[in-house]
Amino acid sequence: MPPPVFRFAPSPNGYLHLGHAYSALLNHDLARGSGGRFLLRIEDIDSARCRPEFEAAIEEDLRWLGLAWEQPVRRQSEHLPLYAQALATLTGQGLIYPSFESRAEIARMVAARDSMGGWPRDPDGVPLYPGTAKDLSAAEREDRIGSGAPYALRLDMAAACERAGDLSWSEQGAGPEGETGTIAASPLEWGDVILARKETPTSYHLSVVVDDALQGVTQVVRGQDLFRATGVHRLLQRLLGLPAPAYHHHPLLRDADDRKLSKSSRATGLRELRADGIGPQDIRRMVGL
Ligand code: GLU
Repeated sequence: MPPPVFRFAPSPNGYLHLGHAYSALLNHDLARGSGGRFLLRIEDIDSARCRPEFEAAIEEDLRWLGLAWEQPVRRQSEHLPLYAQALATLTGQGLIYPSFESRAEIARMVAARDSMGGWPRDPDGVPLYPGTAKDLSAAEREDRIGSGAPYALRLDMAAACERAGDLSWSEQGAGPEGETGTIAASPLEWGDVILARKETPTSYHLSVVVDDALQGVTQVVRGQDLFRATGVHRLLQRLLGLPAPAYHHHPLLRDADDRKLSKSSRATGLRELRADGIGPQDIRRMVGL
């Protein structure tokens, strides 16, 4: 049996806090305990928010925590053509369509429908895209794209689910409601998700499944905030012919006011804690490892 492969996959759009430390240490400990490998992946496709200095700080903080990972570190921004290829596969399956509405326009359309009865929301509370652009003709799409209009490329979720059939995943941790074991995937609850934009040929969902497969990741250990998104990931894996890793979602650490930790909170930032004289072993204790 080849060794299990774990990864910690932060986005360099801020400094790490205790929640990241917990996730990274848990991945690392599980890899150590099972004779597995531990990878670091930098998820930096959002060029507007990600910065090289955050990436350097992430590596410094993880080293300070006592972690070691394989080289080279994979940086998603260096592999955009690969994600574009995966997108082309889905386009070839007739599952991708462009939509041209701005966020504000979508909010207006949804508000109008909301007043006629609740408009459905995705698990993150964002109103589902109403699917209006699906009805545009091929000529209209070409016209708008040709005119330089911004657009998002969306997955036709109903068609994708029909093509993929029933999907599930093996949950070795637990979802927010304690769900564990074999979990039935419900990607339909996300609606027609965006898989790419005019200026970025990929999205979190697309690049995460492509990279997990390419890097041979067998164990995805990450926060419970991504539990429901796993349904979309399983769907993309099936459509793209990629293997399914096992998943382990862990609870999110909360601050003293029972709020999710945020990258801007000074009280739980690893750099601030270090400056206050806290050591790596204290961090382990603080996150319960
Ligand atoms: N890059 C994502 C984040 O920082 C994590 C992705 C994952 O673990 O699947 O929230």
